Formats: sequence, structure tokens, C-alpha cells
Amino acid sequence: MPTNAFLLNVSDLVGNQASSRPVSIVEPVDWKIEMIQIAGDPPLLADLVLHPVSGGIAVTGRVRFTTQDTCYRCLRETLSDRDASVGALFDRNNDDDESYPLEGHEIDVSQMLRDEVMLSLPIVEDCGDDCPGVVTSAETGLNTENSGVDGGSNSPFAVLKGLLEPEERTE
Ligand SMILES: [Zn+2]
Repeated sequence: MPTNAFLLNVSDLVGNQASSRPVSIVEPVDWKIEMIQIAGDPPLLADLVLHPVSGGIAVTGRVRFTTQDTCYRCLRETLSDRDASVGALFDRNNDDDESYPLEGHEIDVSQMLRDEVMLSLPIVEDCGDDCPGVVTSAETGLNTENSGVDGGSNSPFAVLKGLLEPEERTE
């Protein structure tokens, strides 16, 4: 059975309201959303504290990670160091969306961390003040650029571009 760094044994904490325990997880992940990917190196670092609470375990802390971002304007790729705060509840009757499962004496914090990390990411990312902007040198570039971001996630910039570029460009 492969080791899952995100699977934590909490048998020492369950029902023991007096103690809490810090835990650090260092593990590469390959999570991604459309234009932002969590880099595998350096690995994701989660500094968590496990607190026993009635019926389960509360997890708080902070997660640090590096992302490889694709600029939505010029499509340049950049690296960003990011972090996100974490707070979640693990319990045995996780029949709602607010908590994660406590199974036996173990909690798997990977889904929780993934949720918190993804929530912390910007919807679109640009590469900064020196962004060269949308590539306009080739006509075809204007259309191919948006591949993959169709379906309601058009940036305001793309909408603006559509308004400003009817067929009046004669050169
Ligand atoms: Zn850019």
C-alpha cells in the first residue's frame, strides 16, 4: 500500500479534549485549474494543528505552495509563491458539505487541502506590470488564444477586444 502523506492517524486525539497536535506535511501535488497549476517542486507545505472537538477533529493552519501560472493576456508562464489559511472539521457523520470524513482513527486531509488551495487561487492571473499584453501581431492569434477558456469564463479583456475589433482593420 503506497504511503499517503495526507493520511493522518488521530487515534491519540479522538475523545481527548485536552490536547492538540501540530503536524507538518511536505508533499508534491499536481492539482490545477484552467490557467494555474500547483508546481511539484518545491512541494506543497502544510503546517497544520489538529484539535480534538466534540465528534471529531478540527484542523487549522496554513498551506504554502508555488504555482505555475499562465498569463491570461500574453500566455506567458510565471511562478508565484502563494499561501492559504486552512480551517476544516472532520467528523464521523459527514452528511453535509461542511465537514470531511473521520474514518476509524484516520483523516485524509488531501481533499480538504485541495479545496482550500483551489479556493485561494485567483480566477485569472496576469504576469505583472511588464505584461506585454495580448498578442496582436497575427490575426489568427486572436482566435486561438482563447482556446480552453470558452464556456462563460471569458475575461473582460476578451469581451472588450471583441467590441473594439470589427472588420475595420484594413492594414
Ligand atoms: Zn502577461
